[in-house]
Amino acid sequence: MVGGGVRDLLLGREPKDIDVVTDALPEQVRQLFRNSRLIGRRFRLVHVHFGSDYVEVATFRANADEVDEDDADHERDHGGRILRDNVYGSIEDDVWRRDFTANALYYNIADFSIWDYCGGAADVRDGVLRLIGDPETRYREDPVRMLRAARFAAKLGFRLEPASEAPMRELASLVSQVPAARLFEEVLKLFLSGHAAISFDLLQHYGLFRHLFPASDRVLSEEQAGDFRMLIQQALNNTDKRIADGLPVTPAFLFAVLLWGPIRELAAVKLAGGMSEFASLGEAADEVIAAQQESVSIPRRFFIPMREMLAMQPRFKNTQGKRVSRLLSHPRFRAAYDFLLLRSQAGEVDPELAQWWTEIQTRTPEQQGQNASTPVARPAGAPRKRRRRRPRKATAPDGNG
Ligand code: ATP
Ligand code: MG
Repeated sequence: MVGGGVRDLLLGREPKDIDVVTDALPEQVRQLFRNSRLIGRRFRLVHVHFGSDYVEVATFRANADEVDEDDADHERDHGGRILRDNVYGSIEDDVWRRDFTANALYYNIADFSIWDYCGGAADVRDGVLRLIGDPETRYREDPVRMLRAARFAAKLGFRLEPASEAPMRELASLVSQVPAARLFEEVLKLFLSGHAAISFDLLQHYGLFRHLFPASDRVLSEEQAGDFRMLIQQALNNTDKRIADGLPVTPAFLFAVLLWGPIRELAAVKLAGGMSEFASLGEAADEVIAAQQESVSIPRRFFIPMREMLAMQPRFKNTQGKRVSRLLSHPRFRAAYDFLLLRSQAGEVDPELAQWWTEIQTRTPEQQGQNASTPVARPAGAPRKRRRRRPRKATAPDGNG
């Protein structure tokens, strides 16, 4: 076992996943476990499935420098970025191509020993993130390592050792060379793993955020952007809390939050040009999302609901008549309402309006249908809602239904 699992166990934390490494080739591992799949091109490995879970099994790889320049299994671009990394080697080769010393400990289950080639155990003990080898070279090889540095610092509360920290600001722009689909995965790990608020601060601190979300960063750097920053911070704190409480979080909501600043700005321009509020928000969302795909790609299944919940925002201003119940029964109501709350917490929406939408949800459908602005009292102790019961499905005689 290698990597984050060993590190987390040494720290007394529960590992998020277990990474296994072996001298068997991917094809051999594949043959050994019936329930396994070969995955990846850039970095080939095997997923061995156990029920709904899987363990990632990689083969020891050789250090990048010791490989022939024109080997097809090992490609780099002109800046030294590794494009393909499928040259196999021994454990002594493998250790040097890992990112941080804390991530390069091997746990041998045959005799329960830990193999430490680069001082990783001491760095775990001291809470230090130290890149293996020359930091600048390692960041150029794979700029995602800078994002990983920020993520591990946030998640583990480790501090970056000075030499590993020094080149980050200068090299931060290399992140924009990383394929947008890979950055999407990294963004999810940064913001949906329970340490989003600190990760955001660190990304900004190292100048990395602007290469992930250029339009949002531009708005944040404007003087009057205080409420957008507040909205992001509030949302990320909420997200971290939800994860701590075991509640679900969605990429659609996250991206809505992170892109709201530029979308709102562009929508205001369109509105001033005479477009309707609804249309200007929808168009602005489309344009900002399209530009964003260049840096961090957002899959369709996330940006469609995201666009919808943003375009719904002006509809919350209508608190009269049929439109209220129509909005309440919209499939995206919950997410759009959460976003409204956030906007009100950030000072962008009248808190009374948000409160109104909070209260209306506690009323019965009949009460909601009435002119909603008249207060509806519910006698103390009276049931909140009377739901009509659906007839139950018949149960099989053995009770296993
Ligand atoms: P976690 O799973 O908690 O996010 P991790 O350290 O296990 O953290 P993974 O992405 O699961 O991170 O990677 C497993 C291991 O593979 C790492 O610990 C590290 O040794 C190595 N590794 C992963 N990504 C890179 C990279 N970009 N460059 C070098 N080594 C890497
Ligand atoms: Mg891992």
